[in-house]
Amino acid sequence: MAPGNSAAVSHVGKIRANNQDSGYAGEYLFVVADGMGGHAGGDVASAIAVKRIIETDRQFASGTDAEFALHTALTAANAQLAETVFDHSELTGMGTTVSGLVLVNGQVVIAHIGDSRIYLLRQGELTQVTADHTFVQRLVDSGRITEEEAAVHPRRSVLMRVLGDVDATPEIDTSIMATQPGDRWLLCSDGLSSYVSHDKILSTLTSFEDTDAAADRLVKDALDQGAPDNVTVVLVDIDESGVSAHTPPVTVGSAASPLVFDGDTVRKPLRLPALLLHPLKVTKADDSHFEPESDGYLNELILEDRRRARRRRITWLVGIILVVLAILTGSIATYQWTQTRFFVGASGGNVAIYRGVQQGIGPISLSTVYRTTSIDLDELPSYSRTTVEDTINATDLEDAERIVEQLSDVSN
Ligand code: CA
Repeated sequence: MAPGNSAAVSHVGKIRANNQDSGYAGEYLFVVADGMGGHAGGDVASAIAVKRIIETDRQFASGTDAEFALHTALTAANAQLAETVFDHSELTGMGTTVSGLVLVNGQVVIAHIGDSRIYLLRQGELTQVTADHTFVQRLVDSGRITEEEAAVHPRRSVLMRVLGDVDATPEIDTSIMATQPGDRWLLCSDGLSSYVSHDKILSTLTSFEDTDAAADRLVKDALDQGAPDNVTVVLVDIDESGVSAHTPPVTVGSAASPLVFDGDTVRKPLRLPALLLHPLKVTKADDSHFEPESDGYLNELILEDRRRARRRRITWLVGIILVVLAILTGSIATYQWTQTRFFVGASGGNVAIYRGVQQGIGPISLSTVYRTTSIDLDELPSYSRTTVEDTINATDLEDAERIVEQLSDVSN
């Protein structure tokens, strides 16, 4: 079997200081793990999990055997994470997602926990086969929000299930699916799926036949989107031989380095000069974190969601009121200004001084007679009479009185 039927790539991204993702492409096993939390314990968490699960990279007699082995390996990884935290309290709160698959005689056996994803590309169609164990997915499933709202939800990175030191018996999804020649399986961390659209992933997967080229391009797609998170992509193509081995097996991301977490030899806190010199490096972009799956917490988040919806409505209302007020205030100011203007015109056959402006707003007149004079229009020379009928602008009341005086002089 020629190599090249599978690929694994991991990239730290453009914002994060370290890579907390791990990936693996082996003989039968393919895995992605996305670590998080604790005092920079995420890289340790995903590395521990992947190194442990690699035990299941072997030939299984049946899908159910593989399913059992995968489930056991993930549970063991969970226990090992808890033990590690027990020995190294600075790692408290670390956790990791795991999405892995094992190939067994025309079948794909999947084990999954967290929000990394497994997709199947079959005959030009890309389908997500794992469910995100996220708070927002819960809200979508229960009909509280739409998929579109979930994609931009401020709590979209909150995970409801991970491997870590919280739960001794984590709920791991497993399944056995049939696979056939031509199928392409994609495993990825949310650093890809949260920032590159479904359509873009599909078009990249269909444009590049070579798995390495396709995996590299997917990572580049994420980098093109700014890659605020670590990005890990594992690809497996199924061909006639049914073998997709990566020879030799490849480990990428955090699990590719030896595990070291002894005191401050590895995990030095960021010193101030580093913070000042590289402010971007310490920006946490939409950091994933795990929240224990308690009803209380869920209810609290649901209440928060409702509060936010209410805040949105109130913001809208206040906005509309402000706009109406601005229009009203503007109108009042404009009207008040017009009432400081004067002009001379005709009123009931006599010359009159008007307060306001000649222009009106539609049917609304912006002027009123201020004073009707004793000058009869008929007594004015025809030129002056026409001018008065057309109205004569005055700069102020004094100017208007002066114009009236001049008219009085020319009248007979
Ligand atoms: Ca991530």
